[in-house]
Amino acid sequence: MTPYCSVIVPVYNEADNIASFYAELVKHITANFELIWINDGSNDGSLQQIKKIASGDPRVRCVSFSRNFGQQAALMAGLHYARGERIVLMDGDLQHPPELLPAFFNKLDEGYDLVSGKKMGTADIRQTKKHFTKLFYSILNMISDTRIEPDVSDFRVFNRKIADALIKFEERELFLRGVFNWIGFKTTTIDFVAPARKAGETKYSFGKMIQLGLKGTLSFSFKPLRLSLLIGTIVSLASFCYIIYAIVVYFKGHTIPGWASLIIGVMFLGGIQLIMIGLIGEYIASFFNEIKKRPLFLIDETINC
Ligand code: UDP
Ligand code: MG
Repeated sequence: MTPYCSVIVPVYNEADNIASFYAELVKHITANFELIWINDGSNDGSLQQIKKIASGDPRVRCVSFSRNFGQQAALMAGLHYARGERIVLMDGDLQHPPELLPAFFNKLDEGYDLVSGKKMGTADIRQTKKHFTKLFYSILNMISDTRIEPDVSDFRVFNRKIADALIKFEERELFLRGVFNWIGFKTTTIDFVAPARKAGETKYSFGKMIQLGLKGTLSFSFKPLRLSLLIGTIVSLASFCYIIYAIVVYFKGHTIPGWASLIIGVMFLGGIQLIMIGLIGEYIASFFNEIKKRPLFLIDETINC
């Protein structure tokens, strides 16, 4: 029998959360469901935990990657396997409380296509990370064409229409938070406070967040390129004025010693040029990635699929 609802949960080294997540989920979901765990290259026994549960419950399925491909790839894999009319995306560390699922489903019943959880706070988040995330999203929104809501989380429930739209995305450099805004449809949010992680630690270090952010910005906008064109133009104009000034001074006969202004000019221009070349390089790198058309993920094994 095809399930009514598919719950997709990416996990990367969440062994201590698997059993408690399952227990919580079955407590709060009444519909005929399937749970699809995407094991994103865990090396801490998460897969063994999943297998234990899956052997006793045919509703539990698992797609296990050959290595860590990242949360975005894991969610896409889940979408490819999901058979339900309704899809739930949630984290496997119980920061997205399953007891909220009935409220999400009610919104779908009201006629919304997509319901996203809006984080009103996170119990265990460090203050620095909070500020950093805020700063990061305001920069992202400044230069991106698609607005990305800072508090909207990856906790989402949606219908088949949305799932079918998402599957059409064949991008290697996928940034789902942007994609969800880009696709349109009738959407709403539900506020929630994310509790502290049940066990383990966050998988998003500063480095990984910056990487994801850069990917998000570049895949949603050409504005950075336009911005560099603008800065380039302004700097060139300023340099041109300076050249005229230098020529005038030269012919007047009192050339200045000028080491300081020279070195400042050279370093300033050099810096700006390097930033712009780097930026163009980032875009070229993403063309490179897209053109190679490598698979988004590779599956090592599947359970109950
Ligand atoms: N995750 C994943 N692959 C990764 C990183 C994270 O599948 O490369 C999963 C992780 O196991 C968790 C979810 O994505 O279920 C969210 O990650 P995390 O809780 O570390 O993010 P945070 O809540 O700290 O933003
Ligand atoms: Mg988490």
